[in-house]
Amino acid sequence: MIKVNQLSKTFKKTPVLNNITTEINKKEVVAVIGPSGSGKSTFLRCLNGLEQPSEGQVYIDGTQLNEQNVTQIREKTGMVFQHFHLFPHMTVLQNITFAPMETHGTSKEEAEENAMKLLETVGLSDKATSYPNQLSGGQKQRVAIARALAMHPEIMLFDEPTSALDPEMVKEVLDVMKQLASTGMTMVIVTHEMAFAREVADRIIFLDQGAVVEETTPLQFFNTPSTERAQSFLQKVL
Ligand code: ADP
Ligand code: MG
Repeated sequence: MIKVNQLSKTFKKTPVLNNITTEINKKEVVAVIGPSGSGKSTFLRCLNGLEQPSEGQVYIDGTQLNEQNVTQIREKTGMVFQHFHLFPHMTVLQNITFAPMETHGTSKEEAEENAMKLLETVGLSDKATSYPNQLSGGQKQRVAIARALAMHPEIMLFDEPTSALDPEMVKEVLDVMKQLASTGMTMVIVTHEMAFAREVADRIIFLDQGAVVEETTPLQFFNTPSTERAQSFLQKVL
């Protein structure tokens, strides 16, 4: 579903991603883990064309991302950010129906019907007419997930979706993500939630200083990390 070939990214001569090669298969859930500043967000942004590689290629469904097709290919990916990025002046329902109506030409009726189904999935049927500032952080993030899903993405990218949440709201968001994983969605998740990564991910990619230092099963990564860098990272976070 995603193929990354010798991807490097440099910002003004500062190397941020260093020669990353990996593949993410359909229905796979991959957790990207690593210290702050290791390039996790940049990696994710390269996967949907929010950043251009300095070197190397990203392929989505066999098509190489380039400047011409980026908008089209990006529609195959949904992205969820740490800080939600909901439209503050729109209701929950409008947040979810806006993009399908604008970019897919979906009718209002159909977009709203689909939005209500998605709100049910994320447990927020009663919030359709609320505005984002009337919601808790966990509720906002669940709306953001529903909004991304409304575009029928083939891949969902999550960049620290629970890092801005109060602790008691983390679980409600992780539960929605877990449920999404169980439907067979292809997911790439940057997270500091180690228990979640261990339970839900099929594979862990451990990034340090812009390079893939370990890429393995959760079992192996958490129980017997093979590099000193992963060991020392895990000692700090576990
Ligand atoms: P992470 O998500 O793992 O914390 P990032 O991908 O956000 O790491 O950042 C990796 C490095 O790249 C950091 O040193 C950051 O300062 C730098 N960086 C990220 N985005 C930019 C940018 N647009 N311009 C310059 N430097 C950037
Ligand atoms: Mg980041």
